[in-house]
Order: sequence, then C-alpha cells, then structure tokens
Amino acid sequence: MHLGEFRIGKKLGNGRFGSVYLAQHKESGYIVALKVLRKREALSQGTERSVSHEIGIGTQLRHFNLVPLYGWFHDRENVYIVMEYAEAGELYNKVGKVTVQEALEVVLQVGRGLYFLHQHGIVHRDIKPENILCYQHGIYKVGDLGGVGGIGVVGTLDYLAPESIAGSTGGLSVSPVSTPVDVWACGVLLYELLEGRPPFERPTREGTLRAISKEGYLRTPKIVEDARVVKILERCLVKRGEERWTIREMVEYLEGAICNIR
Ligand code: ATP
Ligand code: MG
Repeated sequence: MHLGEFRIGKKLGNGRFGSVYLAQHKESGYIVALKVLRKREALSQGTERSVSHEIGIGTQLRHFNLVPLYGWFHDRENVYIVMEYAEAGELYNKVGKVTVQEALEVVLQVGRGLYFLHQHGIVHRDIKPENILCYQHGIYKVGDLGGVGGIGVVGTLDYLAPESIAGSTGGLSVSPVSTPVDVWACGVLLYELLEGRPPFERPTREGTLRAISKEGYLRTPKIVEDARVVKILERCLVKRGEERWTIREMVEYLEGAICNIR
C-alpha cells in the first residue's frame, strides 16, 4: 500500500505524533481512518517501539471491541496506519451526557476488549474517553493501542492508577504496570461518563496525584443513584491493585447486571 492509493478526506482528530484522517481506498471504495505518524517526532521521542507495537498488536489481535487495524505503510516522512473508521467519533463527546444504562454498556464493551488483551498478556494502559471510539447501534471499541506494552509513563493524569504513582507529590516514576491498572481506569471511566469529571480531578497536578493514591471519590447523587454503579466503583477503584476486581470479574458482573445482548 502507499498514500497514492487513497483519497484523503477531513481530519478526524489529533494524536500525539500526528493526525487521523478520513480516507477512501480508491480501488476498493473502502472508507477507512488513516493515522499519520510523523517519523521525526515519533522516533525522536523514543516511540519507535510503541509504534511498532501498535501496528503489531492491532493487526494480529482481533476482537469485536478493539478497533481493527487493516495494515500499514510508510514513506520518508511518515508512518501510515490504516484502520476501521468509527463513524460516531470518540466517546469524549459523550462524557457527562449518558444515561446509567449507556455508561454501563460502554464499560462492559470496553471491559470485553480489555479482557481479550489481558488474556494475551497485554495491558492497554491508556484507557480514557478519547481512546474509545463509537459506532452506530451502541457499539464501542477500544482504539489507540500505541501505549500498549511500551515503556515509560503513558496515560492521562486523571486515569493513572495509584500503583503507577511513586510518592504522593513527587514526579511520576516508571514502574512495571500490570493488568489491574486497566481495571482502575474502567472505574475512572464509568465515573467520568456519569459525572462529567473524573473522580480524582483536583486544581493541581500534585493534588490529583495525592487524591488518586490517598483520597476517596465524591459520591454525588448521579454516582449513588444506581446500585450497580456503586458496586463497580467500589470494586474497581480499590487503591491496592491486588484487591481490585480482575477485568474478568468486572465483565462477568456487568454481563449479569445488564439485560441486553450485544
Ligand atoms: P493519544 O495517545 O495522545 O490519545 P494518538 O496519537 O494515539 O493520541 P489516536 O488516539 O489513535 O491518536 O487518534 C487521535 C484521534 O483521532 C482520536 O482521539 C479520535 O478522535 C480520532 N480517531 C482515531 N482513530 C479513529 C478511527 N478509527 N475512526 C474515527 N476517528 C478516529
Ligand atoms: Mg489517543
């Protein structure tokens, strides 16, 4: 494949090292999302590993709740990743606007994608609303496998798990991450979807880090309204990773708690 085979359309979003565009494969007519990673930036920041991981993982692992990667190619300046187009955009646009039922649906589907990754020994590490893509008919898929398996701290501050933070006010340190960080992030996701803001958000970075490792979350009316939400947050936002639900336990609970086939 090469760039000339595609008609390039509107920009769908910005990533760390490039942008994502709507594109059409001229010969087949297929509509795809084309992620353009600028080599100079991506490589200078030591993400070569992460890029090749994203491509490797994405093309090999297929699951209904993971955004499929169709292939990739590169030229002198960029690496291009061809993936399925998510027509309903990122979940970020729905934060604070969903019903309890919808929020539970999202977490269940994200959980299924994560369970599949965990079964293959892969930790996603960057679950957040910007990295979950929406499709018609209430289907959600986990995208952005760029941080997967890489080194260094990835992820938004608000979604960091306590075990990913060293010290209460100090900087972030690199610690080996394990599957419980994704379960924690599911708890943060559920909270933010309903409440419109993440549970440990504070005015300062130090405040947020302290809240994540030491403080509880505010049980607002929206949060305590549904017993299932209370239960999930109680089991996912456990400070000690070993005491948290596993992703499998979370998915099994949600499957029992939601009466919908999808
Ligand atoms: P970061 O890790 O900083 O979030 P990134 O470089 O990994 O960014 P992505 O998250 O993959 O980039 O993509 C950036 C944005 O482009 C997404 O947040 C989303 O808005 C849009 N986007 C990405 N993939 C698709 C897709 N398959 N379909 C529709 N939009 C997409
Ligand atoms: Mg992203």
